[in-house]
Amino acid sequence: MEKLPFDYTIISHPRRKRIAISVTPEGKVIVRTPPRTARKRIEKMLEENAGWVMESLSRVQVSDRKKWRWEPGGVMPLLGQEMTVALAVGQKPGVDGGRILLTGDGPEDWARCGAALYRQIAGEYMQKLVSELEPLVGVRAAGVNIGNARRSWGCCRKDGVIRFSWRLVGMQPEFCRYVAVHELCHLLHFNHSAAFWEEVARVMPEWKEVRKLCGKGTLPG
Ligand SMILES: [Zn+2]
Repeated sequence: MEKLPFDYTIISHPRRKRIAISVTPEGKVIVRTPPRTARKRIEKMLEENAGWVMESLSRVQVSDRKKWRWEPGGVMPLLGQEMTVALAVGQKPGVDGGRILLTGDGPEDWARCGAALYRQIAGEYMQKLVSELEPLVGVRAAGVNIGNARRSWGCCRKDGVIRFSWRLVGMQPEFCRYVAVHELCHLLHFNHSAAFWEEVARVMPEWKEVRKLCGKGTLPG
């Protein structure tokens, strides 16, 4: 998992005495610091407050999330596209053009059906992505699993098995790629050391930009 799964802006002020962290209504994390504050100190402070920051950010993202609904006429994000949700009539649940077809008799059924469908899509999509990326990173995963995590997009176990949340396919394709690169690089470095980030940057030089997509397409529940 990422240590700091959010971006932040540092504003240094000549007369400020201590570090202060805030989250704007637009979802920007601002760190106000005394002059010449070491980056390490700022990062440590952000780590200590990461729980609070993430909670504030999730409140901001609720407005975005409200429009995603597993119900006929609703909209759901899938790999960077907004899909219309409809009931499958005489068909199996699936993706049909720009539509997601669900079966069931009510909101609970639809949500369960949608999650199962996304899980299946995530399994195929992430397995393919990992296979493509393995030779680029120069590693092989012991396996790819799809889980139900809400707070982490992916994680890598010591035995080399990589697990992704099915919610990941609600995000942009390049974000999925970043998460896959990130987890595969953990097979080389089981930490977030400078060497780890060098490896991520070698495979995906634009990773910092891509990581900013985090939060766009975050699925309900
Ligand atoms: Zn990580």
